[in-house]
Amino acid sequence: MLEKTDSVIAGLIEKELEYQKSTIRLIASENYASKAVMEATGSILTNKYAEGYPTKRYYAGNRYVDEIEILAIERAKKLFGVGHANMQPHAGASANIAAFYAFLEIGDRFMGLDLAHGGHLTHGSPVNFSGKWFKAFSYGVSRETEVLDYDEIRKMALQEKPKMIICGYTAYPMVIDFRAFREICDEVGAIMMADISHIAGLIAGNVYPSPAKYADVITSTTHKTLRGPRSAMILCPEENAKAIDKAVFPGLQGGPLEHSIAAKAVCFHEAMQPEFGEYASQVIKNAKVLADELVASGLRLVGGKTETHLILLDLTKKNITGKDAQIALEEAGIITNRNTIPFDTRSPFITSGLRIGTAAMTTRGMKETDMKELAAMIVKIIENPADSAVKERVSEEVKEICRKFPIYGE
Ligand SMILES: *Cc1c(COP(=O)(O)O)cnc(C)c1O
Repeated sequence: MLEKTDSVIAGLIEKELEYQKSTIRLIASENYASKAVMEATGSILTNKYAEGYPTKRYYAGNRYVDEIEILAIERAKKLFGVGHANMQPHAGASANIAAFYAFLEIGDRFMGLDLAHGGHLTHGSPVNFSGKWFKAFSYGVSRETEVLDYDEIRKMALQEKPKMIICGYTAYPMVIDFRAFREICDEVGAIMMADISHIAGLIAGNVYPSPAKYADVITSTTHKTLRGPRSAMILCPEENAKAIDKAVFPGLQGGPLEHSIAAKAVCFHEAMQPEFGEYASQVIKNAKVLADELVASGLRLVGGKTETHLILLDLTKKNITGKDAQIALEEAGIITNRNTIPFDTRSPFITSGLRIGTAAMTTRGMKETDMKELAAMIVKIIENPADSAVKERVSEEVKEICRKFPIYGE
């Protein structure tokens, strides 16, 4: 049908599909959603206005939409072991705005991880609402160990007296001690916000600790390791349900995207199956092997290793910037993103780091031995970014591997 109505867009989607199939996707925040998730996303639910919450809508005609949203909520509560779930945030950033809206007043003080150290824009960057409308105090990782120093975070909290402390990050390869954050928050009387956008799938798969017991509010995207639709959610204990729901609607949003909420319900159903636990565990195994291989080939990782799906390469000693590494790899069919590293001397547009993650390629079925091949290819490109013969050879290998690990049927 699309082909008939708009052959230009149809053609571009077809090209993008081919591109996604024939390249190696190592962007740590990306994944391949299932056909079931995409079918729900592309469904007739997009037609329905459903302002409000299930059984308390402002328009008529919500009998099935209510059932769908209730299912999504109940599944999320069960999957993450929380008292309340809000399915309506459109994206991770919107979920975070809602958490601020629920607990803080304009100008209030809060703490989050520095963007350059792995925090998200919405955790206090000066170019973001969080840094503009609120008083952000950014903590960092330790210069020596490149991991979080909870004593330092505690000291900063005691000194700055934040009303909220955010943990959970965008480019931090280690396990977070959520209990330590709870203790710090209790000591200074702060709201504990955990943004599990990157690690939600690992938590759902029981291979990463959950903040559910500790956090006052948990925000998350649903499309990263969780492998659902491009969207988000907020989880919290029952006592914060009202504040969160009111913040999302009518505080910040109008009608919810019920097609997307249905897709989230499908994604939670998938994540409850035993195979998803195996998937999550393979994601981490793959990342560990990839990390070890890269280190063995002489590359340096921030923190020296990974405990998650993501690896942060420090290219400082390699005579190549993050930007140039990203471009050279893309030319060979390996899709990654440049990333600042802690204490980076280069700008966020250039960077000294490269972030890679294993969530997407693990969905395609890759295992440890494939990671070794992948590491060798990455190293070849990083060592010879301008050598077109090397690039040519690697792109042949990429095509070969992609044929071996098909996606969305061939
Ligand atoms: C990806 C991410 C977000 C933002 O999600 P969007 O859907 O892109 O708005 C927020 N917080 C963290 C920690 C993330 O990694």
